[in-house]
Amino acid sequence: MERERVDCPDDRWRERLTDAQYRVTRCGATEPPFSGEHCENFRPGTYRCVCCGETLFLSDAKFDSGTGWPSFCRPADQSRVVCERDDTFGPPCVEVRCAECDAHLGHVFRDGPAPTGLRFCINSVALTFEEGDSATLGEDTGTSEAG
Ligand SMILES: [Zn+2]
Repeated sequence: MERERVDCPDDRWRERLTDAQYRVTRCGATEPPFSGEHCENFRPGTYRCVCCGETLFLSDAKFDSGTGWPSFCRPADQSRVVCERDDTFGPPCVEVRCAECDAHLGHVFRDGPAPTGLRFCINSVALTFEEGDSATLGEDTGTSEAG
């Protein structure tokens, strides 16, 4: 099954992304731990792919892994990410990529919290954060009190 992909020549990505974003998402680099802006961010909201804007992770799946990278126990939707075995750098691990534009996001490990037992270890620079409390969206603001 083929999915339509957002395909851009490398030059286009270079123009659109910062150097750090480009190295991580298009070259598979890893940002230094505790360097990313989303590492300590636990506000409610949505994490999107920095390249294509696809919603990848939600704040309710984020947890403090102490590793220095934003960590999630699951993606916003299984179809949004592609997990592929990666043994380029020695010990095999599983690489996480954006299903839409093939951006390298990070890696997934099997030492996460219940119920998934997974830890999606994602580079901050691969994500943009959009703050918003989904729990309060659509709530009726008109309050009425019975006397
Ligand atoms: Zn993407």
